[in-house]
Amino acid sequence: MFDGENMKVLIASDIADDAVSLLQEHFVVDSAIGLDEVELARKVHDYDVLVVRSKPKVTKKILENASKLKIVARAGVGLDNIDLETCKKRGISVINSPTALSESVAELVFAMMLSFERNIVRSDNSMKEGSWIKKELKGRELFGKTIGIVGFGRIGSHIAMIANGFRMKVIGYDINWSEELGSKMQAEYASFEDLLRKSDYVTLHVPLIPQTRGMISKDELSMMKDSALLINTARGGVVDEKALYEALKSGTIRGACLDVFENEPPTGSPLLTLDSVLLTPHLGASTNEAQNRAGVIVAEKIIEELKR
Ligand code: NAD
Repeated sequence: MFDGENMKVLIASDIADDAVSLLQEHFVVDSAIGLDEVELARKVHDYDVLVVRSKPKVTKKILENASKLKIVARAGVGLDNIDLETCKKRGISVINSPTALSESVAELVFAMMLSFERNIVRSDNSMKEGSWIKKELKGRELFGKTIGIVGFGRIGSHIAMIANGFRMKVIGYDINWSEELGSKMQAEYASFEDLLRKSDYVTLHVPLIPQTRGMISKDELSMMKDSALLINTARGGVVDEKALYEALKSGTIRGACLDVFENEPPTGSPLLTLDSVLLTPHLGASTNEAQNRAGVIVAEKIIEELKR
C-alpha cells in the first residue's frame, strides 16, 4: 500500500458516493462545492488533487494558487472548463473518464428515435388532456431501416451494437475507420456522402473540433433522404442550426432529435417552435449509472497515478 495519508483531495463538485468512499480509503478528502473562483483559488493551495465535473471552471487564477496541485480530475468527458495550457505549464496532470458515458448516450439515441417514431410524447400529452387520438398517432418501425453513424468511436460503436438488436442495417463513417471494429459491430463503411444519401437515420458522434464544426449544414442536409431523421447527441456546433431549421421547415428532411445545442439552453431558437423536432436538455450522460462510473473511474485513476 502506498502512503497517501498525507495527500489531500479537494472535491469541488458533486461526485458519486462510491467515488468519495474510494478516495477516502487512500487520502484526506474534503468537499467544497459551489465555491466561486476567488474562494476556490484561496482554498486550493493546500491540496494535491482537485476533482470537478463540468463545473466549476478551473482557471489560471485558481491553478496559480495551487502550489501543491498534482492532478485536476474531471469526472466525465469534456475538459472545456479546465485551463489545460496552464496545467501543462505547471506540470499538473489532467485526467477524465470518457469511457463512463457511452452506454447512456447510446441509449438516449434509441430513446429519442423510438419516441419520435411512435409519437410517445404526443400520446402521453394527448391522453392526459383526455383525448384518444389513436389514428393520428400511427408510427414507424426501426426494423429493417438503415442507420448511418458518423464518428465510429466509443459511443458510435455502441449504437451499432444496439441497432443490430433492432435488425437495422448499420453503416458508419469515421476518419479513422477500423475494419476490425466495423466487422465486430456488423457495420459497413460508407463515405460521408454515401452515408447521408443512404441513411434513414443519421446519428452524430464526432467531437466538436474545427474540422467538425458545421459538418452538417445546408449541402449535407440536402443530400439526406426527405424521410430521414437527424439525431445529434454530440455537440451543438457540429450542426448548423440555421440550416437545420430551414431544412425542417421546407421538408428537406423529416425530423431531428437534438440533445445538444450551439447555445445551451437554446433560448429563443426557432427550432423550439417545430413539431418535427424532439428535444432533450443535454441529457446524454445524465443517468445514475454513468455519473457513478464517471466518479469511480477518476477515483481509480487518481489512486493509480499517485501510486506511481
Ligand atoms: P470517441 O473519441 O470515442 O469517438 C469519436 C470518433 O469521431 C472517433 O472515432 C474519431 O476518429 C471520429 N472523428 C473525429 N473527427 C472526425 C471527422 N472529422 N469525421 C469523421 N469522424 C471523426 O468519442 P465518444 O466517446 O464516442 O464521444 C463522441 C462525442 O459525443 C464527444 O466528443 C462528445 O462531444 C459527445 N458526448 C455527448 C454527451 C451528451 O451528454 N450528449 C456525452 C458524452 C459525449
